[in-house]
Amino acid sequence: MTGAPRRSPQWPSAASAVVAVMGDPVRHSLSPLLHNAAFDAMGLDWVSVAFEVPAGQGAVALAGARALGLAGLSVTTPHKEDAFVTVDERSALATRLGAVNCVTLEGGLLVGDSTDGAGFLAALHRAAGVDPSGRRCLVVGAGGAARAVVAALGDAGAAEVAVLNRDGPRAEAAAGLAGPAGRVAVPADLAGAEVVVQASSVGLGDPTAVHLLVDVGLFHEGQVVADLVYHPSRTALLAAAAGAGATTLNGLGMLVHQAALAVERWTGRAAPVEAMWAAVTPAAGEGAS
Ligand code: NAP
Repeated sequence: MTGAPRRSPQWPSAASAVVAVMGDPVRHSLSPLLHNAAFDAMGLDWVSVAFEVPAGQGAVALAGARALGLAGLSVTTPHKEDAFVTVDERSALATRLGAVNCVTLEGGLLVGDSTDGAGFLAALHRAAGVDPSGRRCLVVGAGGAARAVVAALGDAGAAEVAVLNRDGPRAEAAAGLAGPAGRVAVPADLAGAEVVVQASSVGLGDPTAVHLLVDVGLFHEGQVVADLVYHPSRTALLAAAAGAGATTLNGLGMLVHQAALAVERWTGRAAPVEAMWAAVTPAAGEGAS
């Protein structure tokens, strides 16, 4: 059904297509808001909801999604690795990362992809007009989000992708995802980086938290500094970077753009990115500053 089905008192109906985000915790998630804003703007009889799925239940939940005929799933913490193992088919990028954050049902098959890195690059471009090609980049963190960003920066042709992380072996493994451009960083490398991405969980839910390896005194004008955290909308790291004259962006843009990529995979149509931005900006604060 197309047109404006979502304005009808009979909506959602037995014919509505269903997608979902699954994770734990998930009740804070902006993903249903983003997906539903897109479906509304597209005039699609689709609905997005959230499922709180405990750790260890990801594979069972995906089997359920297949049985129920969900059109797609966004997968978040702690299920990205389980989703990678469980899906029937996976993209080359998902295979490199060993993680899946976007599942599409195609002819009864669960098809997995990783859209976090592409979402980050789109957000970087929108907020700062930056293409990482030929740039010196530094990524803080080596977890799932950092790995997706490191691979995306490497694939985009960054001159260098240095990875700064508390755990050295994890930093080395993450840096390898950027190919020859990847290397392990030392804290002083921050000064020479043109693009800095804070991709660790430091700062999540705490606007005062500082990463012990990041010397915020090294931030300077001309740098682009991104923090993948979007709650709070301005972390202590972003505040310091903005204070030093750097261009800053928080993680909201990455969330919006990976959701747009999910909508495109599920529906086969271009996502209404501006409508999606408009839906979350009042809820979560500005995505760039
Ligand atoms: P993860 O896989 O658990 O990785 C966590 C990373 O943070 C690791 O590198 C870990 O270092 C580091 N870390 C944690 N506590 C630390 C501390 N006290 N000091 C120094 N390093 C610390 O988590 P993730 O899934 O990558 O998520 C990371 C962040 O990205 C979270 O804040 C998440 O909300 C955000 N995120 C945002 C988006 C978006 O769309 N904006 C998408 C995905 C994730 P070690 O390796 O040394 O343990």
